[in-house]
Amino acid sequence: MKVKVAANILGANDRIAGENSKIFKDNGVYVINMMSSPGAGKTTLLEKTLAALKDKYKIGVIEGDVATTADAERIEKLGVPVVQINTDGGCHLDGSMIRAVLDEFDLASLDMLIVENVGNLVCPAEFKVGEDHKVMLLSVAEGDDKPLKYPLMFHESSALIINKSDLIPYTNFDLEKARRDSLSINPKLDIFPVSCRTGEGLDGWYGWLEASLKSR
Ligand code: MG
Ligand code: ZN
Repeated sequence: MKVKVAANILGANDRIAGENSKIFKDNGVYVINMMSSPGAGKTTLLEKTLAALKDKYKIGVIEGDVATTADAERIEKLGVPVVQINTDGGCHLDGSMIRAVLDEFDLASLDMLIVENVGNLVCPAEFKVGEDHKVMLLSVAEGDDKPLKYPLMFHESSALIINKSDLIPYTNFDLEKARRDSLSINPKLDIFPVSCRTGEGLDGWYGWLEASLKSR
């Protein structure tokens, strides 16, 4: 009966996420749910993205971590409204966790809200939070076998950022294989190899984000 319990939990979450989505739409807020395994570079990508776009758009951030406020402190330095959720052992964010912190934002004034999920390549992909798009990062040090091993996250995401591209010469990461396998799972995936360290490829990602914000 385990399967039934899981289905019920996901059903209840979908309902709450649907309500969140309506709240976001009523306030004109475009929402991204950013996912990856720990250490792929979500917070660093967020810092770069905010630095590039925060003068053009009003952006808020929700940071999800098992523990600490370290990431929220990094984002706060950029002068962007940010709330940290600590899941206290929980391995993903869900709709009700997001709902619980929405009062911390002046939603009507925001153009975009970026949710940085808990670092985990598995269940964040199963739990909607009310987002317009899921976006995922894969860093080259994790290996090019991840799309086929963890297909759900690749299937659910609209964009895939392959981070730390500057390290490719020091790994056996095969970019073409990663691209091919990802597209075999999700042919509509937009893929951006980037290096947050050198800045390579980031303009393509910013362009995608702006275009999808404008076409929401
Ligand atoms: Mg982080
Ligand atoms: Zn989880």
